[in-house]
Amino acid sequence: MPKLKKKREALPSLNYTTRGFRLKDSKLCLAGGIALTVVWSRDLPSVPSSVRVYRDAVGHWWASFVVTTTVEPLPATGAVIGIDWGVKETATTTSDIHDLPHAQHGKNAAKALAKYQRRMARRKPPKGKPASNGYKRAKRQTAKLHRKVADQRTDTARKWAKQVVREHDAIAVEDFRPRFLAKTTMARKAADAAIGATKRALIEMGCKHARTVHLVNPAHTTMDCSHCMTRAKHALPLGMRTYTCTACGVSSPRDKNSAHVMLIRAGLVPG
Ligand SMILES: [Zn+2]
Repeated sequence: MPKLKKKREALPSLNYTTRGFRLKDSKLCLAGGIALTVVWSRDLPSVPSSVRVYRDAVGHWWASFVVTTTVEPLPATGAVIGIDWGVKETATTTSDIHDLPHAQHGKNAAKALAKYQRRMARRKPPKGKPASNGYKRAKRQTAKLHRKVADQRTDTARKWAKQVVREHDAIAVEDFRPRFLAKTTMARKAADAAIGATKRALIEMGCKHARTVHLVNPAHTTMDCSHCMTRAKHALPLGMRTYTCTACGVSSPRDKNSAHVMLIRAGLVPG
């Protein structure tokens, strides 16, 4: 079950709308005479309508502005692509050169993460007692590592999404919802997180460059034949890597078959 956060334990976050903040000489002035020096990551594309100032788990403060964005259309390519998500390959596509292998960012950090989490457990304050400095330090190290892995995932996802969006006019992608988060192994959780980040990046990039992104309902995609669209009677066991159609006899790698089914369901099959 999701755990409710108590207000005094939640991280600070402040919202200001038009009349509550002002930008002056690249400083952010908030209501109540607070002037903040901001390290700008980039120029604002338009006048911001609101700002959220918040602190993250690592202890850094951020200012996030709401602005109107502009669409930057890319030249048409005439190509379409179908994408299926998975554990071993984060994305399997109908194009051979656009497959994205799972980057294992979580796995590489797992050892250090376990160390910091052990440290936190050992220094855990007794109930009702304030946390020790050692506990706080370990907590911050854990948060830092989590952030690093998340940043790495976003980076990989964005680079891949940019390439896919640049080279295709329309994208049919499995509308993946993480199902395993609560109950299964680390590998599954990492795969879920990688898929989530990649799907998010793809949708964002598609919107930015005026491409059509179709979100396809994932039900039965592993059971349909991409050649004749006949549905198999039984779901393919996870260990079986090849899909062989009982109706037309065509066999293809399982994930490639699913990626093709995405294309067909989105109505994007060329010819
Ligand atoms: Zn078939």
